[in-house]
Amino acid sequence: MLKLAARVGRAKPSAIMVVAEKAKALKAAGRDVINFSIGVPNFLPGPHVYDAVRNALDSDSGQYGSNRGRDDLLDAFLAHMAAIGMDGYTRANCAVAVGAKHILYNLFEAMLDEGDTIAFATPYWTSYLDIAEIVGAKTLLLPCPPEQDYKLTPEQLDAALAQKPRVFLFNNPSNPTGMVYGRDEIAALAKVLVKHPETWVITDDIYNRMVFDGLGYHNFVNAEPSLRDRVVFVDSLSKTYGMPGWRVGLMAGPEVVAKAVVTLNSNHITNIPEVVTAAAVAALSGPQDVPTAKCSEFQGKRDQVIEALQAIPGIVCPRPQGAFYVFPDISVAFGKRHGETLIGNDVDFCAALLEAKAVACVPGSAFGEPRALRISYTCPTAQLAEGLKRIQAFFAELA
Ligand code: PMP
Repeated sequence: MLKLAARVGRAKPSAIMVVAEKAKALKAAGRDVINFSIGVPNFLPGPHVYDAVRNALDSDSGQYGSNRGRDDLLDAFLAHMAAIGMDGYTRANCAVAVGAKHILYNLFEAMLDEGDTIAFATPYWTSYLDIAEIVGAKTLLLPCPPEQDYKLTPEQLDAALAQKPRVFLFNNPSNPTGMVYGRDEIAALAKVLVKHPETWVITDDIYNRMVFDGLGYHNFVNAEPSLRDRVVFVDSLSKTYGMPGWRVGLMAGPEVVAKAVVTLNSNHITNIPEVVTAAAVAALSGPQDVPTAKCSEFQGKRDQVIEALQAIPGIVCPRPQGAFYVFPDISVAFGKRHGETLIGNDVDFCAALLEAKAVACVPGSAFGEPRALRISYTCPTAQLAEGLKRIQAFFAELA
């Protein structure tokens, strides 16, 4: 039997996709499934994006593109950077790849040798752990339970960085918790980062345009400009612009890092497709009414979800201020029964909820927090209301 490389064996299938597949199978069997599992934006970009693609097809040269990303796309990204207070970057600081996931993969490959350590908070986005395993990096997990609003404290960060991990990976707003770090919190963490110059910092902030309650988005570089030598900002068009299938991710950081990503690109992908580049330029530099409208719609849906969850005795749920996820602590249900089914943990809970009420959520253990589950709330309002009603009924039936 021919063997595959060990790194493939280390990659686990995504827990989110496992739930989504189960939900799909139930739907095919005729059940009225409400799917809160996948983080899909559930809307399309504005018509100007499609117009740009049609024009690009008409004037296509059929040639390879740039390994770094086309100049007009880099410039559109730089304009966004300036708008969030991260100015002074040039094209040489940037690179484009096939989604933020691919940017992260490139950054892990660029920064981590086998056996090096990457530190990040739990709950974490699942792929952090999986990509670390593929590149053979060790992970240093920093537990941020609901009692501390799922947020990393400066003291925790200080203790973690004292262990000199090669990379510290930060995610704001957070998937899966939806929590957002305010200006003062970012400033306090940035101060700690300054104290530890031996660690690269990646800020995976792809939901930076989806921040609620007027809180605003803040980066470590805004607080401590000297950190520009070490901080890499990661962005994506997937969620904000309703373009997950177009696969556009971007980064801005030190030139040496951008150059490494360009080198990896030149061996992995050469370039993202030219028609995709045209769509990305149009999305970033055209009218912003779709992302703006969606941000306020999601803020309203956040309120709807929180209100429904707060009506359930025993649920603890820090109030998210961004992205489109809510991450309630449902451990009050553990040890109880739904009918004959014993709910021992989050996985049992999600399986029983799906079976009994046809509502799909992702168990928190997929994100390193087994007391919680993730609700992705991008579906239409009526469906959202129905799903929340079913979750309330499920809890009421626990004994
Ligand atoms: N980072 C986070 C925090 C995410 O939630 C996601 C998508 N679920 C990604 C990165 C990857 O995004 P993309 O679609 O651009 O690969």
